[in-house]
Amino acid sequence: MFKSGKNYKVSELPTSFEILGIPYTIAYHELPSEVDADKRASLVGQHDPWDRTIRVYYKNKPLEDVFITLLHEILHAVDNELEMSLFASMGDDEERSINLLALALFNVLQKNGWLNFPAKSKG
Ligand SMILES: [Zn+2]
Repeated sequence: MFKSGKNYKVSELPTSFEILGIPYTIAYHELPSEVDADKRASLVGQHDPWDRTIRVYYKNKPLEDVFITLLHEILHAVDNELEMSLFASMGDDEERSINLLALALFNVLQKNGWLNFPAKSKG
């Protein structure tokens, strides 16, 4: 099941995962200004292809928003790993497309009860 709303702890959320067998790290930040690796902008999410890290702003956000941001950044990462260049220039239109894709994916997974997040740790 999906833990909706703000009824979750950041310590429950996954800090690593794989994309096509490639390990990625997820870092959760309390300030949007910490999300940007270059500390130049305030962001809700960032995908860093250099260290294969996804950074997400989570403070006071429902889990739905955090998960959709994760999906958004995963789409950037898949696009990059597969060199598809669908969203390579990161223009406004591309960001809008990727936002809508992430929202649609979340909706399908959530409404069909296919989403188990955060998954119980394998411990
Ligand atoms: Zn983006």
